[in-house]
Amino acid sequence: MTTLSDCQQRDARDPLRQLRALFSLPPGVIYLDGNSLGALPRSAAARVASAVTQEWGDGLVRSWNSAGWYDMPRRLGDKIARLVGASRGTVVATDTTSINLYKVLSAALTIAAQDTAQRKLVVSERSNFPTDLYIAQALCRERGYRLQLVDAQQIDAQLLADTAVLMLTHVNYRTGAMFDMQAVTAAAHQAGCLVVWDLAHSAGAVPVALEAADADFAVGCGYKYLNGGPGAPAFVWVNPRHTDRFWQPLAGWFGHAAPFAFTPDYQPAQGIARYLCGTQPILSMTALECGLDSVLAAQDCVPGQDAMAALRAKSLALTDLFIALVEQRCAGHGLELVTPRAHASRGSQVSLARREGAYAIVQALIARGVIGDFRAGAAGEPGQPASADILRFGMAPLYVGFADVWQAVEQLREIMDSGAWRSAEFNQKQAVT
Ligand SMILES: *Cc1c(COP(=O)(O)O)cnc(C)c1O
Repeated sequence: MTTLSDCQQRDARDPLRQLRALFSLPPGVIYLDGNSLGALPRSAAARVASAVTQEWGDGLVRSWNSAGWYDMPRRLGDKIARLVGASRGTVVATDTTSINLYKVLSAALTIAAQDTAQRKLVVSERSNFPTDLYIAQALCRERGYRLQLVDAQQIDAQLLADTAVLMLTHVNYRTGAMFDMQAVTAAAHQAGCLVVWDLAHSAGAVPVALEAADADFAVGCGYKYLNGGPGAPAFVWVNPRHTDRFWQPLAGWFGHAAPFAFTPDYQPAQGIARYLCGTQPILSMTALECGLDSVLAAQDCVPGQDAMAALRAKSLALTDLFIALVEQRCAGHGLELVTPRAHASRGSQVSLARREGAYAIVQALIARGVIGDFRAGAAGEPGQPASADILRFGMAPLYVGFADVWQAVEQLREIMDSGAWRSAEFNQKQAVT
């Protein structure tokens, strides 16, 4: 049996322990929802305040140059590049994940139409995050493609041979299952199709090697494990072999080769800057930079390990502990582990399925200061029932400790043993779950 004292000792030995102090979390809260909205970096409030009062207030329009506003998408992109295995100058921070997906999927379809014109299929995972599927549906309608949704294990050579673009989310938002990016990309290329990866639940959570995997396109989210704040700019990466082959469809002036020449003709910038569209939200960019710096702070904590390797080692230890404690302490309560156990097959979250009461159990946990979240069961194949609802627990290794995990499972045990979740107050659904 693992005890609270064992967990406290692990915290004392944790080389990343001091990173917790970089975040401002309310007392008494155990925050296991950094996969939905990352915690507030302590530096962000003062940094955003000075961007408002000094850069905006005093600097006014001059700050586009003097405060480096104009370069922010590229400067932040270079910081993100270090976390996702990409080179300097190949990532920009901009827009939202949904919008960036529209740009890269559109680019991928255009390139596929040149290389494999007869293929009219876009393939994705049925349980992919819905916004990705909606964007793909819209583009398929516009461009005469068909979106085929499959389960992960149905993505085989035969299917890929008919596919123009394979669009996947690396770590599944509901189950936490992770694809082998290198193997899937290689199989897709072997079959002659392009791959778009969504890194929303990967960037800042697991090591990603976009270049080593030879991926084609990637997008990702700034407000989850990158701690950029609500609605933070997202990011986009394009393999340099594709970048200049296509005008992305949202050809705004920030993606122009010379925005301030004010010429009537669009001339795309060379390189990833052409994936910018309009004026960027500078205040949100400022907060995102604080979030990125909080992740990069893991850089020198473990000698010989880069930031993501160090974070991954702790993340796996936290998720292993959570799984073991739930199995030891909450057995017999119908909580079923849906996250794969194999380290290579999972991200930084643990998901538990339950046929009944998942929403109320999460609400009861939140009332006790343990913030996780609820996700409704996945729709099955047409005509099949949905899978069970899910309780989701994100383990952000920057600010979650081993004793936090112990306390969270202890609260879960009490709620299950006492049946406290059945109380009416926990069964009232709110707008955002
Ligand atoms: C969180 C998430 C998004 C969010 O998209 P927005 O445009 O920022 O709302 C998109 N895709 C995936 C896979 C996500 O997990």
